[in-house]
Amino acid sequence: VTAPNTFAGAALDRVGPRRGDVAWVAARVADPASRAVVATRGGVLAVDDGPARVAPSALPPQAELVLLGVEPGGTALFAADPGDDALAEALAPGSSVRGLRDLAGTLDQADGGLLAQAVGLLNWHRRHRFCANCGAATEAALAGHVRRCPRCGAEHHPRTDPVVIMLVTDGDRALLGRQPTWPAGRYSALAGFVEPGESLEEAVAREVLEESGVRVTGVRYRSSQPWPFPVSLMLGFTAAWAEGEPAVGDGELEDVRWLDRGALADGEVGLPPREAIARRLIDGWLDAAA
Ligand SMILES: [Zn+2]
Repeated sequence: VTAPNTFAGAALDRVGPRRGDVAWVAARVADPASRAVVATRGGVLAVDDGPARVAPSALPPQAELVLLGVEPGGTALFAADPGDDALAEALAPGSSVRGLRDLAGTLDQADGGLLAQAVGLLNWHRRHRFCANCGAATEAALAGHVRRCPRCGAEHHPRTDPVVIMLVTDGDRALLGRQPTWPAGRYSALAGFVEPGESLEEAVAREVLEESGVRVTGVRYRSSQPWPFPVSLMLGFTAAWAEGEPAVGDGELEDVRWLDRGALADGEVGLPPREAIARRLIDGWLDAAA
């Protein structure tokens, strides 16, 4: 049994069926035992390497509350963005706004899942203030799980954008690439957004071909990871090499190459942090054949 990926594994009951019960939600907002986790565009309000939890009544009035769920002990948890880092840090003594990626390595499983949910939802709200159908200002409803357009009636639901990420292998070698913005020497699994009208398996094959010129077979699903930067879901696969030698293709990568098992195990190149599903795919392959 392996643990869920970082950013999965929240311990909340998401209480989907109750989001539309306006009186119940209002009672949770008013309950002095309820808490909110706080995030801004800049990151998450943290205390002692974990999320700060503030009373909803302490939040400034412009901070819309999004209901995340109810903890096993019965505490309702919300997410809110007070507007900027200074307003956030004023809410909890000793707190600071920190990037969620930086914080990820110190979070326990449940807090990672909680913050991925909070940050993903708040990112979606920030980007959907206006109706994509008619341009009017939208209004949050269902405790923050939908935005409705008062002019045309459209309902806009929180997005999760699927991204395939895949480790292509051939015997004792794995196909890895690097983007120019990554830390020097780092290589990782290839990845890309799923396009409309495409299965996940097709997306894996297309992305590998576009980025490296390599054709694959035997595409197999492994695990998934919420990735709220801003609103992605990483879908992890392995695939077997079929034909073609790697060469930089569509311009997203500055290098793509085979790296053999020894080079990866010995740290000849940098790998993604342990919190990333790419690292789990690579480590899983190394461990399986060790
Ligand atoms: Zn509209």
